[in-house]
Amino acid sequence: MANDLYNTLGIEKNANEQEIKRAYRRLAREYHPDVNKSAGADEKFKEVQSAYDVLSDPKKRARYDQFGVTDDQAGFGGGGGFEGFSSAGGFEDAFGDIFESFFGGSRGGGRGASQAGEDLRYELSITLEDASKGLKKTIELFYLDLKDGSTRSCAQCNGVGYVEVVQRTILGSVSQRTACPACHGTGGIERQKKKKTLDIQIPAGVETGMKLRVTGEGNIGIGGGPRGDLYVVITVKDHDVFKRNGNDLYLDVPVPLSMAVLGATLRVPTLDGKTDLKVPSGTQPGTRFRLKGKGIKNIKGFGSGDLYVVINVDIPTNLSREEKDCFQKISKIRNDEERLSSVLESLA
Ligand SMILES: [Zn+2]
Repeated sequence: MANDLYNTLGIEKNANEQEIKRAYRRLAREYHPDVNKSAGADEKFKEVQSAYDVLSDPKKRARYDQFGVTDDQAGFGGGGGFEGFSSAGGFEDAFGDIFESFFGGSRGGGRGASQAGEDLRYELSITLEDASKGLKKTIELFYLDLKDGSTRSCAQCNGVGYVEVVQRTILGSVSQRTACPACHGTGGIERQKKKKTLDIQIPAGVETGMKLRVTGEGNIGIGGGPRGDLYVVITVKDHDVFKRNGNDLYLDVPVPLSMAVLGATLRVPTLDGKTDLKVPSGTQPGTRFRLKGKGIKNIKGFGSGDLYVVINVDIPTNLSREEKDCFQKISKIRNDEERLSSVLESLA
């Protein structure tokens, strides 16, 4: 079942209330007749409004999802019933009009041959540094466009791809849409594979699995349907040094035993250069130090995550004779044997 109200707002079928509202606001701004004087903007604005009217109302939306037509189109109420049209006189003309308004003209109500162009998917793999700062990227992709030298219009259906046939039955007249026999529903469009390059802006803060939608850069529609969209699907490559969790970064640093004991200043890497970190004497293994704001930028622009430096204590192995002597000396001075046995006793 086609879901052209969702297409109209450029959202997924499972979009939540907020996504619907956001899409509506963006498109309403884009196509508002006060702002956008280009041909067709006015009509697009109305489409956006009526799509929002249905999808923003949970009951209307549920019915639309179930039946594939809006209440108005189905005659459930609001805009127009059958009364007034069943009487004789101008019968067919009246039905012509009403079905035109039921099915919203060339956009179709899901049963016309009009079809949106397919959405395209482009996989883009970027580094953690790029994800952190955002980047402008030129991509090259194949898509389907109007064939060179061909025109958009089929003479029989005027390019919409369908014809309407009104049939009289015992129950009244039924209008049916069928694919135009002349152009087989394509509206006269012949499509051809083409290549294009696009500059896309990847915002700072993207994560693996995020999809960036580039409106109208998919395949051309058939039968008067709109162009599809392009989805750029992001993969952020694993980093050799930093692990990411949301907008926070983690860095494991193996610190030599003596420095964990005595304290030290570490020159640690961050995504934008090195910085000093003071590790106090007696730092325990697993201690985390937070470098505020040194993580990844929030994609919505609210600040940045942090960088956590996790201290691993590097316990020496393969000691030389001299080193062994030193440790034995420390052990004796600290009375380690006795301290250990009293610890173990307290555990028993
Ligand atoms: Zn045709």
